[in-house]
Amino acid sequence: MSETIVFLAHAVDGAIARADLEALAAATALAQQIPGATLVAGLAGDGAAFAASAIAGSGAARVLAVEGPEFAGPRYATDALAAEALARAAGATIVVAAGTSRWMRVLPGVAHRLGGRVETHLTGVRAEGGQVFVSRWYYRQRMEAVLTRAHRPWVLVVDPGCAEPWKGAAGAAAVAVEPVAVAVPDGARRTQVEGVRAASSGAQTIRPDAAVLFVAGAGWTKKQADGKVHAEDAQKLILGFIDAAGASLGGSKSVVDQSGEGQAVLPFMTHLNQVGQTGATPRHPKGLATCCHGEEPHTVGWRFINERRAVNLDPGCGWSRGKADVLYVADAFAVMARVNELLEARK
Ligand SMILES: Cc1cc2nc3c(=O)[nH]c(=O)nc-3n(C[C@H](O)[C@H](O)[C@H](O)COP(=O)(O)OP(=O)(O)OC[C@H]3O[C@@H](n4cnc5c(N)ncnc54)[C@H](O)[C@@H]3O)c2cc1C
Repeated sequence: MSETIVFLAHAVDGAIARADLEALAAATALAQQIPGATLVAGLAGDGAAFAASAIAGSGAARVLAVEGPEFAGPRYATDALAAEALARAAGATIVVAAGTSRWMRVLPGVAHRLGGRVETHLTGVRAEGGQVFVSRWYYRQRMEAVLTRAHRPWVLVVDPGCAEPWKGAAGAAAVAVEPVAVAVPDGARRTQVEGVRAASSGAQTIRPDAAVLFVAGAGWTKKQADGKVHAEDAQKLILGFIDAAGASLGGSKSVVDQSGEGQAVLPFMTHLNQVGQTGATPRHPKGLATCCHGEEPHTVGWRFINERRAVNLDPGCGWSRGKADVLYVADAFAVMARVNELLEARK
């Protein structure tokens, strides 16, 4: 069967976000791997036609756009209408989009409206012998599965951070944009987007694009060799490193629970920072865990960290059992003080 692969993206202020460009890389690779496949770009938002120039050279045979201020803000009703209209106008058999919170909210519903199927949290998409295979992890990243389906249309939602973003060849000519008209019923306007407000602690310390994830564990808040807790030193060392290295801050469940229970030992630590089975599975090239025991429910959140290092006083901690590439058996207070000194000297 010849496939029509539709890459969906939001145009925000006339631009296409990095996560969408990663999904475009997956869509273009898939189109190249399937003989006779057609790639179509479907853009939604205000300035969608303008954004089309950003993907010139992607190999999209057609560029369709649902354009207008009604489609600018993230709103279920209009986002779903736009995605459905784009998929229908293109005659999509496969839809590829990024797993942003905006697309994740609507695409399962859109797949249902199209009579299709959906797969989310994909970490890979490929074709072999004309058959499409997708991979994703189950049971909190403990098992990887490879799936295929005969049913069409098939909506594939790719997790951000799994592919290099697509980069255009300079000077490629843009394909003419075909507008797709969508009637917005009054009911769809009941929700008005007034703005976006980021959680303040998260906005300051959680940086998904950072090269390094720095994880602080509960050890920072425990009595040290002198029998005392050194919370102020811990704060200074942790925030000093985060600032100097531009790192993202993660925490173990034990440390983030302490703030929730009113023991604001590290007050900047919230549940948004928690890494692990009941927390996040961030994607960074490198990770450094400090004063964290490295138990399985925590380290399972490290599945996608490429190079893992840990500092722990206990040579028998969880990191030493194959969870880290390098374990420094050392006092994290001393190690981070020295690391911060070196970073300071490099400024
Ligand atoms: C269903 C379930 C889900 C869970 N989900 C998660 C989850 O999503 N994320 C998560 O993190 N946990 C999770 N947990 C909890 C997990 O099992 C651990 O209890 C938790 O990760 C322990 O946190 P910690 O390592 O920071 O603290 P601790 O176990 O208290 O370890 C502190 C460590 O600090 C070290 N230390 C102390 N002082 C120093 C120093 N000066 N220098 C160096 N090292 C020092 C100690 O040697 C010790 O290893 C879950 C548990 C369950 C049952």
